[in-house]
Amino acid sequence: MSLGFGRHYLAIPGPSVMPDRVLQAMHQAAPNIYEGALHEMVDGIIPDLKKVAKTSGEVAIYIANGHGTWEAALTNTLSRGDRVLALATGRFVVFWAIMAERLGIEVDLIDFGKSSSIDLNQVEDKLNADHEKSYQAVLVVQTDTASSVRNDIEALSECIRSTGHPALLMVDCMASLACDRFEMDSWGVDLMVAGSQKGLMTPPGLGFMYFNHRVIEARKRADLVTPYWDFLPRINPEVFYEYFYGTAPTHHLFGLREALNMIFEEGLDQIWARHAKLSQAIWSAFESWGEGSSIRLNIKEPQQRSHSVTSASMDPPHATELRRWTEHKAGVTLGIGLGMADPSDPAYHGFFRVAHMGHVNAHMTLGMLSVIDAGLKALNIPHGDGALEAASRIVSSA
Ligand SMILES: *Cc1c(COP(=O)(O)O)cnc(C)c1O
Repeated sequence: MSLGFGRHYLAIPGPSVMPDRVLQAMHQAAPNIYEGALHEMVDGIIPDLKKVAKTSGEVAIYIANGHGTWEAALTNTLSRGDRVLALATGRFVVFWAIMAERLGIEVDLIDFGKSSSIDLNQVEDKLNADHEKSYQAVLVVQTDTASSVRNDIEALSECIRSTGHPALLMVDCMASLACDRFEMDSWGVDLMVAGSQKGLMTPPGLGFMYFNHRVIEARKRADLVTPYWDFLPRINPEVFYEYFYGTAPTHHLFGLREALNMIFEEGLDQIWARHAKLSQAIWSAFESWGEGSSIRLNIKEPQQRSHSVTSASMDPPHATELRRWTEHKAGVTLGIGLGMADPSDPAYHGFFRVAHMGHVNAHMTLGMLSVIDAGLKALNIPHGDGALEAASRIVSSA
């Protein structure tokens, strides 16, 4: 029988769980787009978005998913034939780099593998070897959503600065903004991209590009700038529609406004601490399951693990069996393994991910872990004991 009826829990790394308050805020008639409350709301959203990223720089909003902001970041700053240094720790910088190549940008990619964060020594060597200072930008993710690697962006920024290299530091915080600590200005990040559907708890469809004065300077030289993706009218609109270069995404904005209210009610420090604590509970459960079995966290070093998504593996095809069981029998959808093996490869069915980003609390996390535990038992998948006890001990220490 299925015990899956009741409120479903989508525990995949985006789209994340949307709070009822966000959904209710969106449930209203279309507003006047020419004047009044909508304009005031957008004027208030801009400074609040900046607060979430700890920046006094600029933010442009695009009606786009995360991929759209990748293109905005590249086209606003670079020219055909420019070189960038891409630091891959999973899949997402690889995708960003492929996009750059298609735009005619030359990409030098360092691949740090799929289970560890960037090695600053290698980055330093690469930048020091670039005597002509030909790299215009360094591309990196804070959290790679495929591998669940978390990179130390502050240390990377210091490393770049110590070499005296002028490359712009461009960071993808799609899966980490409002989950993991991120301080754009004090860390010296030049450009950051994020999307609405992860830590910001709003449906997919809004992309955010944050940037500083160095990026505004770079745009003056960039020959890839196009009318739609150009950030200039968006940050300095003479008329309201220029914020979005067309009709405002009215209902996404209603949802985002409420999500930002929730973020400030809880407070960023508390949000980061909540994500860190729930992550520890998840890791400790996996470590217990892994005793004497094939179950493994993808990232060994706790400091290199994301606080919003956890990638794991077990002997195939158990991961796929487990995902099916948790969805159909218990109402919890877990994430597929992404980029770890080709879907046609039997090894693919040994990878999965759990998301813990945005609107998640202790009962959702402990419930999700209990469901995995039940699934392991129902499917006779070998696993160590004590996972739920270990997770609950972490939660009880909060
Ligand atoms: C989700 C995600 C993206 C892509 O976002 P889309 O909205 O699917 O285009 C990019 N980078 C990271 C790190 C992500 O987690």
